[in-house]
Order: sequence, then structure tokens, then C-alpha cells
Amino acid sequence: MKHYKLIHKNKNVEYKNYKNGNILKLKIGLGILSVSLTAFSIANPEVFIDNTQNVIYTVNEFFSDSGNIENLDTTNQEYLKEFENKLYSNIPSQYLKNYNNNINNLKYYNNNNDLNKIVGTSGYYDVKTNRMVNILSNRHVIFHELMHMASSNGKYCGFSNGKTAIGLTEGYTEYLVKFLFPDKYIGYPKEVQIIKILNSIIGEEKIMQYYFTNNLEGLKKDLISIYGTQKDVDNLIKLIDNYNITNDDKILSEIAQLLLKYCYSHQQKQESNFEIDTNIRIFIYNMYNNDNFNELEENVKEEITNSNSQKKFN
Ligand SMILES: [Zn+2]
Repeated sequence: MKHYKLIHKNKNVEYKNYKNGNILKLKIGLGILSVSLTAFSIANPEVFIDNTQNVIYTVNEFFSDSGNIENLDTTNQEYLKEFENKLYSNIPSQYLKNYNNNINNLKYYNNNNDLNKIVGTSGYYDVKTNRMVNILSNRHVIFHELMHMASSNGKYCGFSNGKTAIGLTEGYTEYLVKFLFPDKYIGYPKEVQIIKILNSIIGEEKIMQYYFTNNLEGLKKDLISIYGTQKDVDNLIKLIDNYNITNDDKILSEIAQLLLKYCYSHQQKQESNFEIDTNIRIFIYNMYNNDNFNELEENVKEEITNSNSQKKFN
């Protein structure tokens, strides 16, 4: 999966992506977000761009030679060992099937292209062909890309088929890397917070299982059983994807509202009261980014109470 960290800072930047041989120009932040999601499809070759947003390589051009795990330099070999040790000692073995399948055939690419020109991409893992590059030769970046590898089955990367649940997948990937290697650096901070909230609602073990077994449907089913309909859940996942591309605070506020409903619904089902975990409440409060949080909270509680009493009535 691709990282657009630098691009994220500029909300009106153009993405360019090849689709059926044509470059699509996708204005981000201008209201055509549903189109921009296709830019992340695993099925379409993606591109690397320079700082004037010109395409300099397609992924296929970039990975032009065959690639080999022996390309790993000493530093990256050390990182790989460190990663594998942590993974084996912390993640249940039944979830490491993808890792064991992929690691021996991993095609690793050194920075042998003119990578200084590339903007917004610090590492890359190609799910379909099991190819990886660590552009910044950075410890954290290779851990993140290795986690993508450990959770990919050739079609799915974590929760995502490349078209949907990309934001959730990036969030969980980074959450796990941070959990295994708790140093200061963290990418996708809001996505990670969203994962922490979902962990508290659905349970850490279940989400880990869904991630490593590429079971988005399982995750969706659990969310539906707690709150709302298929449509609500699809909407939540889509909003997280849109936020992942744009870093737009307005979208984050919408996500916060939905998550608040999930939390209160979950809590009411558990204990029939309205107390959610203080840390989670603070996460959501910070995401909501609006002075009227208390009002929102009251409305959510009322909505849930009403819908519950309605159910009893029926
Ligand atoms: Zn990633």
C-alpha cells in the first residue's frame, strides 16, 4: 500500500493515476472523493509522482527488474530479523499464514532508481506481486510495509481489496507496528485512534483475526450487530477511506459522530447505561472538532434510547 504523507498536507493536490492506459487527474478536496478512491485500487497499476505532480514511474516501470530478497542490504536485513522476531513472539501463529507464504517469495527492491524525485511515498508494498521497496531506508517504514506483507493474501491487504477499507487497513497496520515497536514515530495518527475505538467496541482479538485473515465481512457483520445497518457500516468505512486520502477535518467530524453512536449503542447493549471509556470519549471529542460535542452526545443518547424503546414496543 502506498503512502501519501507529503501529499496529505496539500489538500488540493492533483493525484494522477493510470487507469486503462489513461492518466486520471483527480482533484482532491474538491468534492469528487468517490472517484478518487479508484486511485488506490490494487487492480490498477499505480504511479509515483515528482514534486510537480508529474508521473515519473508507473509501479510496473519502477519494479522493472525481477527483484530479490537478497537485494536487502545489511541494515534492512537486520530490520527484517527484528520484525520477524517480534511478530513470532507477539502474534498468534494461526495469523501468520500470509507472512509465512509471502516472506520466502518476497521481491525486494533497493533504491536503485532516481528515488529522490519521488514525493509522498516512503515505502511501497505491491499486494498482487509481493514486491516491496523501502524508499527512505527507514526502520519504521520497512516495519510498516512488512506488516502489509504479513497481512496480504495476493488479493486482500488486511481488510482491504484495494478499493475499500484502505483507511482502516492503514490504521490497523500502523497500530500494530506501534504496538510491536513503541517508539516515537507514528503515521496515520487519526486512523490509529479510530482503530483503538473499534478495538474497544468489537474486541482486540476479533479485529486482529479479521485483519490477518482478510475478513472485512466479519468486521462489518460485528459492526452491524452493534449498531445500524449495512448502509451505516459501509458509510463509516467509506468516510474513513475519504479521510485517509484527504485528511479533511470535516470528514473526521462525521466519523466521530458515527463512532460515538457505535460506542453508546455498544455500551447500552453491554450494561444498559451510558458510560463510555474516558480515553475513547476524549479521542472522539478531539476528532469531532466542534464546540457542540455535549449537545451531540445528548442527541446520540436520546436517539439510541428512542430506538430501543421503539424496538420494545414492536
Ligand atoms: Zn501503508
